[in-house]
Amino acid sequence: MNSVFRVAQLCAVLGGVSLIMQGFPVLGLCVALMACWNWLLDRLANRVVPGIDKPIAVESARFHDGCFIADLHADVCLWRRDLMRRNCRGHVDLPRLHEGNVALQFVTVPTKLVLSARLPRLFFTDLFFWGALMSLQRPDTWFSVPARVRLQLSRLDRWVAASEGKIEMVRTRGEFITLEDRRQRNEDVIGVMLGLEGAHALRGGLDVPWLAARGFRVVGITHFNDTRFGDSAHGVRMGGLKPAGRELARQLEMHSITIDLAHASAALIEDILEMHREGELSRPLLVSHTGIKGVCDHRRNISDRQAVAVAATGGLIGITLFAPGLPRADLAALGESIAYLVRLLDDAGLEGTRHIAIGSDFDGAVRTVVDAAGWPSITAELLKSGYGLSREQVELIIGGNIRNFFIQNLPA
Ligand SMILES: [Zn+2]
Repeated sequence: MNSVFRVAQLCAVLGGVSLIMQGFPVLGLCVALMACWNWLLDRLANRVVPGIDKPIAVESARFHDGCFIADLHADVCLWRRDLMRRNCRGHVDLPRLHEGNVALQFVTVPTKLVLSARLPRLFFTDLFFWGALMSLQRPDTWFSVPARVRLQLSRLDRWVAASEGKIEMVRTRGEFITLEDRRQRNEDVIGVMLGLEGAHALRGGLDVPWLAARGFRVVGITHFNDTRFGDSAHGVRMGGLKPAGRELARQLEMHSITIDLAHASAALIEDILEMHREGELSRPLLVSHTGIKGVCDHRRNISDRQAVAVAATGGLIGITLFAPGLPRADLAALGESIAYLVRLLDDAGLEGTRHIAIGSDFDGAVRTVVDAAGWPSITAELLKSGYGLSREQVELIIGGNIRNFFIQNLPA
């Protein structure tokens, strides 16, 4: 596949140059741009706030090295990037995961994005169409959402194969426990779990049993747009679950797949919570990458009341690493958001620090406060006395809670 891309890339460059020489400079530039579009977009969209390379105290670094670090959300396989070597763009690759001492990285699969809710949802208003076309991706991914899922999965499979055992898929409780054991023996291995960002991808042969068999263990009901399953926090309708969404939630429960409420409208979150209260759902809920409205009142963030209700299901709330998930794009804003959420959940009678994690949204076309190599800075920030968190509590937030959650909730 890579050689096909290289040929297409060369043709685009030659075609562009020839068009420029024939007196069509704008068209020529556009065609030539296609050869480096994915690289350029990756470089411009997935950025890190400067200051990540500040040294941290030896004591915090040592503590970080002993922790199980885990991240609930990253769109790594959306990009054409060699994940085996350290890249100067994007947020995640194997060397940077190693540097960050990451034990478990979620790889999430986004597939469609119509930026403005006011635009009609046609193929040319979908940014993924333009991304696929401009990146010279294989033509089925220009129009087909399931083809985009399959392409990202093939990138993940190639990464796992190329790593020769350094990256292992985690699908069951047993595989999770094996991962933890191997890391405790200082083996050089990182676990990867699969999540789907938006159930709109379920068509064309993709359904919940297929997701379960392919190893998806987390599914977000909506992403950026309202769908037949329910409404998005970024949509127009702001309604709740549709009948198809209720059926989807029941099927996910049946197949031991965790429901992710990130990007869902407040009404949809309420409907899922209602299904939980009425006993139709029993598995704990997840919000994989969000901020908290009480700290930053943005439409993508969960309200304080709903955060408490999600945690009360035994659930987990992953705080993102970028603004406006955070009130500002810096590490202190992450610390403040976490400290606020701990107090909020404690005041509601829950043990707050047991329900909080990090869902970075690395490689999700956002500017994050660190990249995967910068995890020690997160630990160092949370250990600062101002947040009032003990070492045990910090250890839970940076990965321990994710470990406990999935060891409890993965299929045996
Ligand atoms: Zn997202």
